[in-house]
Amino acid sequence: MNRTLKNELYGQIFSITNRAICKNNQVYNAFLERLEKEMLTRDEDSKTHFCAYFLPFNPENKKVFITHHKKSGLWLSPGGHIDASETLLEALNREIEEELGLECFFKEPQTPFLLTITPISHPTQPCKEHFDIWYSMPTDGNRFNIDPREFHATRWMTIGEAKEIVTDPANLDALQIISR
Ligand SMILES: [Zn+2]
Repeated sequence: MNRTLKNELYGQIFSITNRAICKNNQVYNAFLERLEKEMLTRDEDSKTHFCAYFLPFNPENKKVFITHHKKSGLWLSPGGHIDASETLLEALNREIEEELGLECFFKEPQTPFLLTITPISHPTQPCKEHFDIWYSMPTDGNRFNIDPREFHATRWMTIGEAKEIVTDPANLDALQIISR
């Protein structure tokens, strides 16, 4: 893995790790501690690594786009792992293209609105802990071209509806914050 690129991702995550977007000091400190261990992506550390969520939010009608993930079986915001050698912007745009079918959605680096830590227990995946970086994705979804291999179902819904169907605590925190 290229040292320069690894430092670039490290620097980017360090620069967005702010106490103001963490629920408490524990999350903030754990992000900083995990960063110092480097090996930030799943390719480098299959157990604990950083992920990016992009919650599609239509500012016109205040609806969010929630997906029924095949891999996890849960209703979640779209998102995924950051790959080795990617910047945060590249990871966001790659995942948006893979899951929602939009190319180069974000033209410049984005500021996340939330950082969360999610313990994972999955029978077939090695992931144990995700350090989630949450972005708002303002869109009406008109150009979405959803890959049916990724999801059982997808739906635009009000934040109230989403809170009834979503169970993951980090996703619930994100819904709470985006509804403000
Ligand atoms: Zn993982």
